[in-house]
Amino acid sequence: MHELSIAQILVEQVVAAARKAGATRVIQVSVALGNLGTVNPDALAAAFPIAAEHTFIAGTTLSIRRVPVRCDCKACGMTTEPEFPFQTCGACGSGNVTVLNGHELLLEAIELDVPVN
Ligand SMILES: [Zn+2]
Repeated sequence: MHELSIAQILVEQVVAAARKAGATRVIQVSVALGNLGTVNPDALAAAFPIAAEHTFIAGTTLSIRRVPVRCDCKACGMTTEPEFPFQTCGACGSGNVTVLNGHELLLEAIELDVPVN
């Protein structure tokens, strides 16, 4: 299961960052997920609590933000955020585009409880 191994990597990164920050608790983890990627957001959301189980961050919420695909069109010069099938210009429909983003999976934010003293 592709998403479970991704979730495990996310959990490791979050645990490492939380320890480094001296956090007592991780409240929420936010990731950005490109619409062109192969990661299924529902499967990732389901895999995250499994990966986090029995770790320091068990019970933490995963928030997934979908990142729209952006294309630069070589035919009409517009930059658009086309819907499926994505790799066509949202303005003129040309397939002669450069895909600017949409493949990313980024750890965007970690909300922590850090003791003040
Ligand atoms: Zn165009």
